[in-house]
Amino acid sequence: MTLVDIEKLNIRTKEISHLASALSLLEWDTQVYMPEKGSGGRSETTSLLRTLVHQRFMEIDADGLLSELKKKLDNGDLGGKEAAIVREVWRDFERERKLPEAFVKELAQTTSRAHKVWEKARKESDFGTFQPYLEKIVELKRKEADLVGYGDSPYDALLDVFEPGMDAKETGRILGELKDFAVPFLEKIKQAEVSIDEKKILGDFPIEKQKEFNEFIAQKMSFDLEAGRMDVSTHPFTINFHPQDVRITTRYSIEDIMYSIGSTIHEAGHALYEQGLPHEHFGTPLAEYISLGIHESQSRVWENQIGKSKEFWQYFYPELQSRFPNPFKDLELDEFYRIINKVEPSLIRVESDELTYNLHIILRFEIEKQMIEGDLKISDLPDIWNQKVKDYLGIDVPNDREGILQDVHWSGGSIGYFPTYSLGNLYSAQFYNQAQKELPDLSGEVSKGELAPLREWLREKIHIHGKQFTASGLVKEVTGEELNPNYYTQYLQEKFSSIYGL
Ligand code: ZN
Repeated sequence: MTLVDIEKLNIRTKEISHLASALSLLEWDTQVYMPEKGSGGRSETTSLLRTLVHQRFMEIDADGLLSELKKKLDNGDLGGKEAAIVREVWRDFERERKLPEAFVKELAQTTSRAHKVWEKARKESDFGTFQPYLEKIVELKRKEADLVGYGDSPYDALLDVFEPGMDAKETGRILGELKDFAVPFLEKIKQAEVSIDEKKILGDFPIEKQKEFNEFIAQKMSFDLEAGRMDVSTHPFTINFHPQDVRITTRYSIEDIMYSIGSTIHEAGHALYEQGLPHEHFGTPLAEYISLGIHESQSRVWENQIGKSKEFWQYFYPELQSRFPNPFKDLELDEFYRIINKVEPSLIRVESDELTYNLHIILRFEIEKQMIEGDLKISDLPDIWNQKVKDYLGIDVPNDREGILQDVHWSGGSIGYFPTYSLGNLYSAQFYNQAQKELPDLSGEVSKGELAPLREWLREKIHIHGKQFTASGLVKEVTGEELNPNYYTQYLQEKFSSIYGL
């Protein structure tokens, strides 16, 4: 009986998910609480657990249960949730099965060494020492693509891990449209010569008071603190062990309060997605996120469309002013709004504004695609990087540390990850456009600090479905059409034309 078989499969994947949750908890502890000397023992513990998770997962089909269900799926004998469960478990199983253990080990050892070399190379701003490690990683990632198999480009096989169903060609087309809009639009903004003095919002912000304000915002967003936590780490992140235990972190800058606010809103957006997954289905794909791009759309819609909007600050700015009279007491909301939305090409991706952020992503996508397709020499990378930064952003890269070496991703073998950030922006604009249609008073609610209606809408339209839809299927289901870059470019055009008087 198929239903009984699905139940059996669910029991097996649930056990694996519990093991994976234990791993995640260790990962969280590593970044939040672990003392420095703990790292050696910790990495042995996590590596053992990771092996156990992998072995358990490979045993899932030992008696042919999954293969039988896959046959039923292919024959069209499964529908709805059952079909989604089998489709997704099979997808992961199929990929993992194709990668021999020796290969996985070699990749893990290489990236672990490469990460340390990258840290040193970045500090010393010397691409040369990292170069042989990146060459090795690219070679292994190409091998991974060959082992897994692909259609047009080996890049497809790598992108597929992070953004299932998306390929290099489609990504190139979509990001190309975004680039064709953003490069000339940035030029117009520069020519407008509007001066915005961002130093006016710098000050001396005690961390305890910042924490209180961030918690206030997160609670207004309906982040459930009885099913989650907020802590501090060097790099902000969101992690979940279960939909009812979802944790976020942020980092505080004494001088710049907007840093922690932006990252808290972003991570809380991710966390609302995780908390909104149906916990009764924990351990099955029905309680998992769809793709990194969709995940990112949930953080970006809160961080940007909401958290950088005039409406949002109509409610929160008086609160900010009363908690931090210095420097906000005498600064008008309009000016504050322009400052937090200032467009200025910069060298560092994570510090860039809403518009130029995408250009950072596009140049990385173009480079890594060529890297994997074998169309460039790794030794030429710094020059290629610097030229693209000049072409797209109009600025000179003074050194490798602020150029090619700034991101951790490649040293960890994450090639194909970058595009999901911009895809997230594109999805977020299309979803938000739809939310505005279906919630006619959305702006009015946001300006009164009522953020729950949007969270409810996102929950009902996106979160509760888990992985029942593919990313493109979800976009169609929610908005009635395929992913369309126009929603995002229009959003950018309207917002920044108004700020810069274009
Ligand atoms: Zn994110």
